[in-house]
Amino acid sequence: MSPAVLVVRTDPRDWDSSRSMLELPGLIDPHVHLREPGGTHKEDFGTGTIAALAGGFTAVLAMPNTQPPLTDLANLELARSAARTKARCDYGLFLGAGEGNIAAASELAPRVCGLKVYMDHTYGPLRMQSLPALIEHFTNWPGSRPIACHAEGHSLAVVLTLAHLFDRRVHICHVSLAVEIDLIRRAKERGTQVTCEVTPHHLYLSDSDLPSLGTGRSEVRPRLASAGDVAALWESLDVIDCFATDHAPHTLQEKNGDKPPPGYPGLETALGLMLSAVHEGRLSMDDLVLRMHTNPQHIFNLPPQPNTRIEVDQDHVWEVRGVEFHSRSGWSPFEGMKLRGRVRRVHLRGQLVYEDGQALAPPGYGRDLIFTSVPA
Ligand SMILES: [Zn+2]
Repeated sequence: MSPAVLVVRTDPRDWDSSRSMLELPGLIDPHVHLREPGGTHKEDFGTGTIAALAGGFTAVLAMPNTQPPLTDLANLELARSAARTKARCDYGLFLGAGEGNIAAASELAPRVCGLKVYMDHTYGPLRMQSLPALIEHFTNWPGSRPIACHAEGHSLAVVLTLAHLFDRRVHICHVSLAVEIDLIRRAKERGTQVTCEVTPHHLYLSDSDLPSLGTGRSEVRPRLASAGDVAALWESLDVIDCFATDHAPHTLQEKNGDKPPPGYPGLETALGLMLSAVHEGRLSMDDLVLRMHTNPQHIFNLPPQPNTRIEVDQDHVWEVRGVEFHSRSGWSPFEGMKLRGRVRRVHLRGQLVYEDGQALAPPGYGRDLIFTSVPA
């Protein structure tokens, strides 16, 4: 895979001609929760995709742990019809793996960006507990797009074994532990078809941040890990294929409530966090583009988005304030943090769709990247 070409140029419209605009390809986030159907007080395809554009993402892949979950054609079409009328950036939908949809999954495969398997507890009703059903999914799933797995600890070992035995492509979501990234490295070295993603919050936050975040706000799956685990992730960049936000919005009221649900919003802070890492010399710009554009596109076999690019003021230092987010969540685990690099403009398929805090694309401008024909 060749790194994307970067063009640094001075923008004639900028008030300060000495400030350079960084031009990058549209970012692709392979892991977001847009909460529709069933949780639109937290987010929907409209607010979530405006948040995506504000963060420099021109495509997002939406997870299926909605209410109802996206495990059959009817529920997929429920989500798709909402996306079709509301989305401002391009998208794909994941199909959720259940014990009752093994036969249907391969028929639905051409409509989705991948099969999502939940091996461990998280928000929502989907969890795969039957080993025979899991094996059947691995046996039947068509090979063109990966099986994306929430698989922590022991579950990761199970998934890597099945990927190897059944010669299936797996994509491991939100890796957070040293032992996990080490297992994935070893699996790659043995030729297992495995790719993985790490979230910015698992690269920037550790369990030492729990007291300052507070009980409810710190809830996330996988949980924040030790400083040693965080260091191991940074030392394993060569194993990490994608930076994915796992944008998982809940309202502040829910996070501060009696039963705080797990999840952080992430679409509007991811690029600033990773550009800050570039500024600090922890990451190269090519490293960033590879993991936030090139690899997600390749792994999920997404079509190119022609005439699509983002313009970023890489010198702009800004303070995270959740209340200013386009996301309905209205809070951030990075509240008050100063980040470097802000998205000024987003061009998607030849249209200026976002400029300086304003979404310019009409609702429904976003396209399904996988399945474009009108359903029967
Ligand atoms: Zn998730």
